[in-house]
Amino acid sequence: MHLARFPRVRLAHLPTALERMPRLSEELGVDLWIKRDDCTGMSSGGNKTRKLEFLMAEAQEMGADLVMTQGATQSNHARQTAAFAARLGMDCHILLEDRTRSNDPNYNGSGNVFLNFLHGATAEKHPGGTDMAALMEERAEEERAKGRTVYVIPGGGSNATGALGYAACAMELVGQADAMGLKIDRIVHATGSSGTQAGLVAGLKAINAQIPLLGIGTRAPQPKQEQMVYDLAVKTVEKLGCPGIVAREDVMANTDYVGEGYGLPTPGTIAAIELFARLEGILLDPVYSGKGADGLIDLARKGTFEGETVVFLHTGGSVGLFGYNNAFDYDTPAIAAE
Ligand SMILES: *Cc1c(COP(=O)(O)O)cnc(C)c1O
Repeated sequence: MHLARFPRVRLAHLPTALERMPRLSEELGVDLWIKRDDCTGMSSGGNKTRKLEFLMAEAQEMGADLVMTQGATQSNHARQTAAFAARLGMDCHILLEDRTRSNDPNYNGSGNVFLNFLHGATAEKHPGGTDMAALMEERAEEERAKGRTVYVIPGGGSNATGALGYAACAMELVGQADAMGLKIDRIVHATGSSGTQAGLVAGLKAINAQIPLLGIGTRAPQPKQEQMVYDLAVKTVEKLGCPGIVAREDVMANTDYVGEGYGLPTPGTIAAIELFARLEGILLDPVYSGKGADGLIDLARKGTFEGETVVFLHTGGSVGLFGYNNAFDYDTPAIAAE
């Protein structure tokens, strides 16, 4: 695996830190570490930054003047794409899907939604269940007919190009662990549109790390989630020039923590966000990393990771907290202005 073969715009702050979580380790009786991909940079960071380094390099190579992507209302991917477009001098148009049917003004206007506009992107919104990929192609064709050069990024940046960012992350993480003499028994992270897990699987296999990886689902049921990750991991290792090295058993997802659906935090999600905030001073998010951490905490309490050193890959998303602050019910003391 030699990633310098692929075009890349180097805007991420790398390597991200690999740190121990002492208080959470004590609380759960497991040696817990965290890989801080919430701190990758570009509009506060998150996992999409690594993918966008490779995707936006393709956009630049084709001379794109307009980037289009799609996601849920509080999409972190949309926000990070808007930031990359701003930095590279391209226009950005975002198609948002109303997956939660929330009327909360913060959900619909704060957090990531606010930052999209701050970065100068334009956006349109569609009801949940719309065929967003088809609609985006339609929009792209309309713009091409007007003479624009459009680069279309799939939801979550999850294709083989985007997944290269997480193949690179696998190498980075294992390199850090080796340098500090840390033996990793397992990696756990939140999985959604699948590019993160597919890239990690591809990278871990390509360097023969022999570290099991567990994705905690945030949307799809287990068979569908694992199939999506597997299919993309297969394409990613083909792109890397090592076809056939990923087996179906390399892909593991636990989807017991999704709750009622995508973007709907459960009581476990909220409790996990509070535990990380109060024991480690680390911000998670209500859509992905909070559900991933709920799975991590619950499985740790059930003894699944007994005696192991586990790395939680923090995929970011804390900007979404401001779209979801009403999911937390705190009595904010009224502080009167003088
Ligand atoms: C997109 C996202 C994920 C899921 O990553 P995928 O590559 O889509 O599976 C996890 N956490 C956060 C914060 C995200 O924004």
